[in-house]
Amino acid sequence: MKQDGRNRTRTYAAGALALLAFATGCGDDGGGAVAARPAATTPAAPQPSGDGAAPAAAAAPAAADAAWAKWNLKPLAPAPAPPADKPVKLERTGTVPVFSEVKTNDKVVFITIDDGAEKDPKFVEMLTELKVPVSMFLTRDIVKDNYGYFKPLQALGNHIQNHTVDHPVMSKIPAEKQKSEICDAQSALTQQYGTAPLLFRPPFGDGANTPTLNNSVQQCGPRAIVLWRESMQIHDMQYQASDKKLKPGDIILAHFRGPKELKGATMTEMFGELLARIQEQGFSVARLEDYIQAPAS
Ligand SMILES: [Zn+2]
Repeated sequence: MKQDGRNRTRTYAAGALALLAFATGCGDDGGGAVAARPAATTPAAPQPSGDGAAPAAAAAPAAADAAWAKWNLKPLAPAPAPPADKPVKLERTGTVPVFSEVKTNDKVVFITIDDGAEKDPKFVEMLTELKVPVSMFLTRDIVKDNYGYFKPLQALGNHIQNHTVDHPVMSKIPAEKQKSEICDAQSALTQQYGTAPLLFRPPFGDGANTPTLNNSVQQCGPRAIVLWRESMQIHDMQYQASDKKLKPGDIILAHFRGPKELKGATMTEMFGELLARIQEQGFSVARLEDYIQAPAS
């Protein structure tokens, strides 16, 4: 019988892969985040007084607060302006850096979301309203049945990054196969989203520090390997730091997941919990790519 690639992929995505990734907390996708509130919501001028009309400048923050309230969330502090001098500077050639945090004194963290299995329209609505920046590390065979889902998220300013063709354990496959996993995802994502991924995340973070994987990445276009410091579960994060606290510049891993993988919770519920944990610790969410300088072209 003919092989049914789609069924195979779906089984893989919904089954062993998702469960393994979830159980081990090994993240694979990520994303940067930006201002929690659009700049336009910042009151720009002194309030007019005395005429009884609602000042126009006050309306925007109220609308932003209402958006957060709709999702039962407290607003995150607005992120600072992106640094002019980027803490991460990528080179055009040579060994690619591997990092799980960005050096910054800004009280910001970065959200990355991996794989792409759950394609919940409510999550698009949530990000559209809250304007929290994320970076999406997509696995080709997990998103290829609906590349379009991610386009409105991309249109919000969020970047698409590379997370292989079908999510293998990279250290268990030969260099040539590593290369096809990264290069074939790179070309598919570039074709679909109109821009070449700058960053790569290996499934489960596996092999990130091996020369073989570094060389494979170099041959396919991404110019950095991105890991993470925290991994979002259903209600809270798993922290690598023993004090279980966010630090400025931490990269957080989350996944596009739904009720099957989240014990009945939805993607928006999980993401709301993530934002609440960030808000409680007084952090803003910034966009990872705003802290990275791409190689000069
Ligand atoms: Zn993954």
